[in-house]
Amino acid sequence: MRSDYCGGINEAHIDQEVTLCGWVHRRRDHGGVIFLDMRDRDGIAQVVFDPDTPECFQAADRVRSEYVVRIKGRVRRRPAGTENRNMATGQVEVLGTELELLNAAATPPFPLDEYGDVGEDVRLRFRYMDLRRPEMLNRLRFRSRVTSYLRNFLEGQGYMDVETPILTRATPEGARDYLVPSRTHAGSFFALPQSPQLFKQLLMVSGIDRYYQIAKCFRDEDLRADRQPEFTQVDVECSFTDEESLMDTMETMIRDLFRDLQKVELPRFPRLTYADAMHRYGSDKPDLRIPFELVDVADLVAKVDFKVFSGPANSDGGRVAALHIPGGGSLTRKQIDDYTKFVGIYGARGLAYIKVNEVAKGIEGLQSPIIKFLGDEATQAIMSRLNVKDGDIVFFGADKTRVVNEALGALRVKLGHDLKRLESEWAPCWVVDFPMFEQDDDGGLHAIHHPFTAPSCSVEELVKAPAAALSRAYDMVLNGTELGGGSIRIHDQAMQATVFRTLGISDEEAEEKFGFLLDALKYGCPPHGGLAFGLDRLVMLMTGASSIRDVIPFPKTQSATCLLTDAPGEVDEKQLKELHIRLRKAQQAAAPAKPAGE
Ligand code: ASP
Repeated sequence: MRSDYCGGINEAHIDQEVTLCGWVHRRRDHGGVIFLDMRDRDGIAQVVFDPDTPECFQAADRVRSEYVVRIKGRVRRRPAGTENRNMATGQVEVLGTELELLNAAATPPFPLDEYGDVGEDVRLRFRYMDLRRPEMLNRLRFRSRVTSYLRNFLEGQGYMDVETPILTRATPEGARDYLVPSRTHAGSFFALPQSPQLFKQLLMVSGIDRYYQIAKCFRDEDLRADRQPEFTQVDVECSFTDEESLMDTMETMIRDLFRDLQKVELPRFPRLTYADAMHRYGSDKPDLRIPFELVDVADLVAKVDFKVFSGPANSDGGRVAALHIPGGGSLTRKQIDDYTKFVGIYGARGLAYIKVNEVAKGIEGLQSPIIKFLGDEATQAIMSRLNVKDGDIVFFGADKTRVVNEALGALRVKLGHDLKRLESEWAPCWVVDFPMFEQDDDGGLHAIHHPFTAPSCSVEELVKAPAAALSRAYDMVLNGTELGGGSIRIHDQAMQATVFRTLGISDEEAEEKFGFLLDALKYGCPPHGGLAFGLDRLVMLMTGASSIRDVIPFPKTQSATCLLTDAPGEVDEKQLKELHIRLRKAQQAAAPAKPAGE
C-alpha cells in the first residue's frame, strides 16, 4: 500500500513519487493551500495540496485530525526559509496528487501533542491513542531493541530460549498467587507463575545447560509505584557455574547493552556485601550516585542521659546512626520540618539534627536542640568522628535498626536529589552475601531470596544457626533500583529439605507442594544458578521514563485493573458453574433482593 514511511522521506527522495499511509496529525489551511502533517510510527511528513488538483484539494479540505489516509505525491525541496530543522523530514515536503480516505476518526479524546494536562486514567482508557504519541511509540521501539539485544547476547553465549507454563502450581517468590480455577478438576486451581523459577531449575536437571526466557510473571501484591501485577523478566539459568562466572557474564551483558544502545560506558560494578550496604546506606539497593553515608555512633551515646539515643544504643535490635551532609547547613527550619515529616513515613518518631556553624568555636559553633540533652562530650566525639566542616548538617536516627535504616536510607536519597548532589549519571553495583532468612514479626523465618537459594554453609551449620546463615544470592542494582537478582541454587535434596524445614514447612507440606522438585534433585541435578532481570524497570531507567507504566503498552492501574478493557470483570453464572464456583458476594446480594414473604 505504501512506498515509504512518512518519517523516512528525505532529500534523497526529491523528484520521486511516493505513496504514504498514516494519520492526519495536523491540517492547516494557508490561504488556498492545504498542509497536512501525516504521521506514522516513523515520523511526520508535510504534504501540500493546492487547488491545481481540485479533487484531492477538496478531499484534503474534508479530512480532520486522526483520519487515516493514503496519499500519493512528488517529493520536493521545501521553499527556502520554510525548512524545519526540528523535523527529520523538515527539508522536504510532498506535493500531493492523490488522497484516498481510508477511514474517518471521531474527535480524539485528547490532542496527541498537548497531552500534558491529560490524566493518566484517560491515557490508559484510550491507551491505543496514547501509544500513537511519538514519545510512547519510541519507548516501545526502544524496548523491542533491548529485548532483541539481550536475546542476541544470550544466544551468542549458548543460552537457549525455552518456554515454561503459565498454568502451573505456585512458585513462591513472596507474593500472593493469581489463581485460575480448573473446569476439569472441580475445586482445584492452577496458579500463574510468580516466576519460572522451578521450571528453569528442572530444565537444568534435564541438561539444557543454559536457558533464558523473556517471561511474564504474575504477583498479586499491594502495588507500589514501580510494581505491576504482571510484569516481564529476562530470566536466565545456567549449569556447572558459580557466582563469579554468572555475575561476570551478566555484568558484561548490561555494560554492552548500555554501550551499544545508549552510548554509555558504565563503570565496572563494585561489590558490596548486604551488611555493608545496610550499614553505609541503610538499603540493600543503594543509590551510589549520592555521596552521603550513614555512620554508627551508638558507642558514643550509650552512656548519655538522653534516652532517645541511649535506649536504642543499648538495645540488641537498635541502631543509632548519623547522616552527615556536607554543605547542608543552609537548610531552613521549614525544610527540616518537612524532612521530619518525610522520615515519619518510615516510622521515625523525629529527626534530630546538629548544624555546624563554626567548627573552630567548639560547642558554641554548633546549633541544635539536642546538644543540651546529649552533653558536650558526646556531641564533640560525634563531630570529630564525622570530621564535620563549617556549613555542614548532621541528621540522626535512633530506633529499631529497621526503622533507622529505612528512614535515614530514604532521607539520604531524598537529600541527594533535593540538594542536587548526584555525582554521576549511572552508578551500578552488585550486592552480595545476603542473609538466608529474615525474621517475621511472629518470630518465624522467611527466605530473603526464595527457598531454592543455596546457603554458603553446610546443612549442619544451617541447622545450628539459621539466622546467621548467608546465602549465595546476588542483586544487580543501578541508581538505587534493583535491576535483577538471582542465586546459586540448592542442588542437593538433603539441603533443600533442610531449608524447607527451617522455614517451618513440614515434610508433608514440602512433599505436597514441591515433591516434584525434591524428586528431580534425586535424579542427578547439576550445580546451577541464575538470575532474572526486571525488563520493565530496565527499560524505564534507560528511557528516563518516570513510571514503569510508561514502558508497558497495556499496564494495570495501582489498584490492579485494566482501564482499557475493564478487567477484571464479572463472568456469567454458566461459566461459574462450569468452574464449580459459587460466589459469596452473589449469595449475599441474592438474599436481600428477594421480596419478603416469597
Ligand atoms: N526467580 C527469581 C526472581 O523472580 C530470580 C532468580 O532467582 O533467578 O526473583
